[in-house]
This record gives sequence, C-alpha cells and structure tokens, in this order.
Amino acid sequence: MAENWDESVDVIVVGSGAAGLLASIKAADAGKSVLLIEKTDKWGGTSALSGGGVWVPNNHLMKADGAADSPQEALTYMEDVIEEVGPCSSRQRKLSYIANAPRMAEYAEKMGFRWQRAPNYPDYYPDRPGGKIGRIIEGQTFDANKLGAWKDSQRKGEQDAPAMAFATDDVYLLPLATRTLKAALRLAKILLTTAAWRITGRMPQTIGQTLTGQLMHIFTTKTNAEIRLNTALAGFVQSEGRVTGLVIDENGTTKRIEAKTGVLLSAGGFAHNPEFRAAHQPVDGTWSSASPKDTGDGIRLTMNEMDVGLALMDEAWWGPSTLYPDGTTGFPVWERSLPHSIMVDQTGARFCNESESYVDAGRAQLDRNEQVAAIPAWLIMDARHRKRYMFGTAPGGRTPQDWLESGFLIKADSIDDLAAKTGVDVDGLKATIARFNGFADRGVDEDFQRGRTAYDNYYGDPRVKPNPNLGRIEQAPFWATKIYPGDLGTKGGLVTDEFARVLTSDGKVIEGLYATGNNTASVMGRTYPGPGATLGPALTFGFVAASHMAGETVPVPNV
Ligand SMILES: Cc1cc2nc3c(=O)[nH]c(=O)nc-3n(C[C@H](O)[C@H](O)[C@H](O)COP(=O)(O)OP(=O)(O)OC[C@H]3O[C@@H](n4cnc5c(N)ncnc54)[C@H](O)[C@@H]3O)c2cc1C
Repeated sequence: MAENWDESVDVIVVGSGAAGLLASIKAADAGKSVLLIEKTDKWGGTSALSGGGVWVPNNHLMKADGAADSPQEALTYMEDVIEEVGPCSSRQRKLSYIANAPRMAEYAEKMGFRWQRAPNYPDYYPDRPGGKIGRIIEGQTFDANKLGAWKDSQRKGEQDAPAMAFATDDVYLLPLATRTLKAALRLAKILLTTAAWRITGRMPQTIGQTLTGQLMHIFTTKTNAEIRLNTALAGFVQSEGRVTGLVIDENGTTKRIEAKTGVLLSAGGFAHNPEFRAAHQPVDGTWSSASPKDTGDGIRLTMNEMDVGLALMDEAWWGPSTLYPDGTTGFPVWERSLPHSIMVDQTGARFCNESESYVDAGRAQLDRNEQVAAIPAWLIMDARHRKRYMFGTAPGGRTPQDWLESGFLIKADSIDDLAAKTGVDVDGLKATIARFNGFADRGVDEDFQRGRTAYDNYYGDPRVKPNPNLGRIEQAPFWATKIYPGDLGTKGGLVTDEFARVLTSDGKVIEGLYATGNNTASVMGRTYPGPGATLGPALTFGFVAASHMAGETVPVPNV
C-alpha cells in the first residue's frame, strides 16, 4: 500500500443505485476487491424509488417467449428516435448498449436476479421503424425480509404505494378496476397474492424496491464487496493524468483510498442542485421526483478537478408532475392519458398530446411556457374521470378530503366555475373543450393525434369508443389539478465512451475513471425511447465499466 493511502482496493464505486450495486457485483465476481461508497444513510438512490423497469431490446426473456427482436431493429429504432446530440449518443455507444444490455440482464440472472417481462408495455414510439411492444423487463416480486439487517436502510419513497405483489403490466389495468373484468380480476389476483405473501411471513417488494433489493441481496450474500453508508466522494487523487484513488468523507473523517484498477461514478444526476439547475435549466428542481440527495456531486467534483466533457446539461427525464398537499411530488401518467381529460395552459389552450410519453409532454409544457403562461398548466377532468379512474392512489369516486381542502384537486359545478377557481381564461377553455369534444366524437385528435399509437392506447379505457384516449368533457362536477414540468431526474453530465470511460473535453480517455447513470450524458440523447430507458443504460454501462475494469472483452459489434 502506498504510504499516503489510508486504504487500498481495486475498484471504488460511488453511489448505491441499481447501477452502482450491479457494477460492484460484477467487479467483485470478477475477482476485484470492491468498495462501494454511499453518501447518505440509505442505499438505493433514485433507483429504489423508481418503477424499476429496464429497457433491454432483444433480451433473453423475449427470446424465450418467442417475441421477435434483433440488434438491427433496436439500432434502427434508436437511430430513428434519438436525434444527433454528439458523442454521448454516438453510434458506438448505441451499439455497445444494444450488445451489452442483454448480456447485463443474463449476467444478473446468473447471479440470482429474477426477472420478468412486461409484455404489453410498448416502446414510446411504437409506430417508428424498429419500434416494438414488450422490450421492458423488471425484477420479480422479492421478499424484503431476505435483506436482513439491510432492510431498514433501503431508500423508500415518502408516498410509497403499500407493499403489494404487483407488476408493471398491472399498472395500466388498476385504474380500470371498476371498468373491465380483466382489470377487476387482476386487482383480485394482486390482493390474493399479497395476502398469501403476508400470511407466510414474506414482505413483497416490487418495481424499484425489488430491483435494488435483489441486487443488494446478491451484493451482500454472494460477493466480498463492501458497502459503506454515510461515506461521500469528496475529491480525486490523480497521477500522470490517471485517476488513482479518491478522497472520501466517511462519517466526517477524510480518507484517501487507492483504487488500483479504477473508479466508477454512479452518483446520480443533479435534480436537487439549484445552482446547476439555474445555470442550465429553466426549472429549479422543486417538482422533481428524484431522490432528495441527487445533488450532482459526481459531476461537480469531476468538472472542478479535471478537464471533462459535459453534455445535455439542459436536459432531464421530464414529465408533467403534481404537488400533493404534503409537498411530495406526483407523476401522473394514466391520469392524463385516460379519456374525459385534457391539459391546458392558462389561456385554456391545449399544448400537447396528453397521452404521449412523459418526456415529450413535459418538454411541451416547458416550450409552451416560452409563449404563454403554462406553469402551472391544468389537468381538467369531467365527472366520469374522477368517478371511474384511480388518481394517484385515490380510487375512482373517493377523493381524500385534504385534497379538496388544500386545493390540490379543485371541484366545480360548471366550466365557468372551474375557470373562475383556476384562473384559466374562460372563453379559451370553453373553445378548447368544444373543439376537443368534436375530436372525441370522431375519435381523431386533429390537433395533437392523441390516442393514435399503441403507447397512447396502453393507458386508455377500452370501453370508451371510438378512441380509448378521447372522451367528451361535459359532465359536472368538473375537476382540475395543477401540472408542473417535473422530472424523474436529470440526464446531462459526463461524456463517456462505449466502455463507459470518462472523456476529456476533447474526447480523450481519462484512465481509471468510469461513469454511468445520471452521472453521465445519456446515450438516449434528448429522448426516452421506451419504458426503462434510464435504468437500462445505467445498469448496462455499469456492467460494461466493471467488465472493462476486470480486463474482459466488452463486445461492441457492428450490426
Ligand atoms: C418515481 C420514479 C419512477 C421511475 N421509474 C423508472 C423506470 O421504471 N425505469 C427507468 O428506467 N427509470 C425510472 N426512473 C428513473 C431512474 O430511477 C433514474 O434515472 C435512475 O435510478 C438513476 O440511477 P443512478 O444510478 O444514476 O442514480 P441513483 O439511483 O440515484 O443512485 C445514485 C446514488 O449515489 C449517491 N451519491 C450521490 N452523491 C454521492 C457522493 N458524493 N458520494 C457517494 N454517493 C453519492 C446517491 O445518494 C444515490 O444513492 C424513475 C424515477 C422516479 C423518480
């Protein structure tokens, strides 16, 4: 051990989200000594709060089901939907993703991770060349009790849904539980399965909790990797242009740790760093659903100490968001996609296809706000929407009293009343509704094509004809809630290559330094190609980085 090091390991991983956990497992499994540091007293990061979906084109579960896909189709799709944004989304990076995402999924399974598909969930542009339905995979329901002493320090959301044994492909059905037999049966199955788990002493974990829970279980039971909570990256040690170790703050004590092979930054994005937001973005992060400690340390410290390439700092995984009475954020997806609803700006005009992907709808709101006041915008619903469908965790027909008293949901007897209570221009709103009702009758949204694609229809009501996303707004009481341009986190940061190595501003490799996840500029560019398109690259490039550090060949075949 060099004299000035407090400790020495082969690999240091910074940040305990899904990517950091998986990369640590891979590096340790390949024989490296691994230290994973996590600055908070909770492990799991935003990954633990997430939907846990992972977008893996051409994955082994699709093959087992006979669902057709190929690297060529995946590349065609990515090249079609991801616009040119420079090296972070280069062809080589896309090829690496397409080749290594399925390898990552199979590797995790080999280590004991249990995946399942969400076969009905479409890509977000399923009608574009190479678009498919069912490329997303997620962790099967996992028993949190298996985490033992690590159970209580897993990051949890403030508004976490009760621990139920459900899956991603149940989510589009649950809001329809009183509308279709299929949805009612699915709800019954979930309740029965959950009861069976509980009766047998098991604590069901799903979505982001099973993703991180299963990985933590593998980490703690099958590897010699070490994790330290309350331990933060504080700086880098470099020698002759190579990163040789880190300065860390461990419970208030500064230490220098040697990383003989390399360092992986998987410390998340800068959703809750107001200075970065102010410098690069039109919002300050108040409406972000990302983990509260997502403060951009991995980007800030690297750019302070090295000449690094940065990209997409003006971007986030945008999405229309709400602010619940207790100050927590909501991320309405089916709520704005189901019929008998529209989103309007403060002039009463629609500004997007309400059923489109959250990234596109969120950006549309930001763009609209450049022209007319659209922050907040309003989600307007007629009586049937509130009566039939779940809103957040509130079942149809049952609206929590504090939602009404706090003004989170506004209820009105007429459109005039609704306009008066929301401050939306009444004439504009009436004209918009009249026009929209015509679209609903004809089943064609001539302004924004809502309800045209399989993705739109996924969160639709099949009983509403002729278009499951379009329903008239005419029955009182009318409802409204404020919509803000929130996000699931940011997606700009360090520029990395196809092996997840961090690059300088002129594109040279910084030896010994790797990065993945929201710490980096995304391979997905400004787009969100399909469900799981942030965790997919985070996990994949974490796996790639660990494989590369282990000296393994990382395939990047042309297709
Ligand atoms: C509600 C919600 C649902 C979502 N659903 C999905 C989904 O289904 N599919 C999908 O693909 N994406 C989803 N996302 C987005 C996805 O969760 C994130 O993009 C992803 O988890 C980011 O992973 P990461 O590894 O970059 O960061 P994180 O998971 O946040 O991990 C970073 C970790 O680094 C730690 N850290 C930060 N600074 C330091 C430091 N200085 N030293 C040490 N540690 C540090 C943090 O505390 C954190 O624990 C969702 C997000 C939200 C909020």
